[in-house]
Amino acid sequence: MNIALIAHDKKKDDIVSFAIAYEKVLKKHNLFATGTTGLKISENTTLDIKRFNSGPLGGDQQIGAMIAVNNMDIVIFFRDPLTAQPHEPDVLALLRLCDVHRIPLATNMGSAELLIKGMQRGDLSWRKNKKTI
Ligand code: PGA
Repeated sequence: MNIALIAHDKKKDDIVSFAIAYEKVLKKHNLFATGTTGLKISENTTLDIKRFNSGPLGGDQQIGAMIAVNNMDIVIFFRDPLTAQPHEPDVLALLRLCDVHRIPLATNMGSAELLIKGMQRGDLSWRKNKKTI
C-alpha cells in the first residue's frame, strides 16, 4: 500500500508517536510524507520515507497529485483544527481529492489507528486491485 503521512506543526509529536507505535506495520508499506513531517518521522524511527516538499511549499499538492492518478491508498493527515494555516486551500484540496477518489483518510489519532488496524485485517485489500489511471 502507498501511505501518506502528514501533520501540521502542533500535531508533529502525535504523528511521530503514531509512527513509532505502528512502525512494524508501516515498514511493510511504501511511505510518503510532506517535508517536515517526513523528516521528524525519519529522525525518530527506522522507516524509509519518500519526502515531498513541505506542506506550505506544495507538499500537500504533490500528495494530492498521487491521489488524482489513483496512486495513493491511505492518507493519514493529523490536522490542527485550532490554528489557521497559510496553505489552507491546499489542505482542503487534498481532503477533497480523498473524497473524490474514495481514498481512506484519517485526520486524527483515533481514526488513524482504526485505519491501520483495518488495513492489517485486510479491510483495504480492494485497493490492491486498483487500476492506475
Ligand atoms: P510539513 O507540512 O510536514 O512540511 O510541516 C505539513 C503541512 O503543513 O501540510
